[in-house]
Amino acid sequence: MRPLIAATATPEHPMPWGWLLAALALAAVGYAASCAWWPFTRCGRCEGRGRFTRADSKVWRPCRRCKGSGARLRVGRRVWNRFARVRQAGR
Ligand SMILES: [Zn+2]
Repeated sequence: MRPLIAATATPEHPMPWGWLLAALALAAVGYAASCAWWPFTRCGRCEGRGRFTRADSKVWRPCRRCKGSGARLRVGRRVWNRFARVRQAGR
C-alpha cells in the first residue's frame, strides 16, 4: 500500500484515505439497507416480464432463470441470506 500512496501523492498533499474509506463504508451501509428494503431486482434475462413471447405474442414460455416471476434476488440480499443461514446452522 505504501509505495502506491507515495507514487500518487506528495507528502505536502496526502490523499484523504480516511474520507475515502468513510465514503466507501457509507456506500456499503447504504447498499445493505437498500437490499434489506428492496430485496428484489428485475430479471435481466426476461427484463422483468417473467416470460419470453414470440414476436406475435400469442405463445410464450416462462423464463427459467427467474422461474416466471420476473424478479431476481439482489446480490446483497443473497449474501445476507447466506449469512443468516450460516448463523442458524451454527446454533
Ligand atoms: Zn426472467
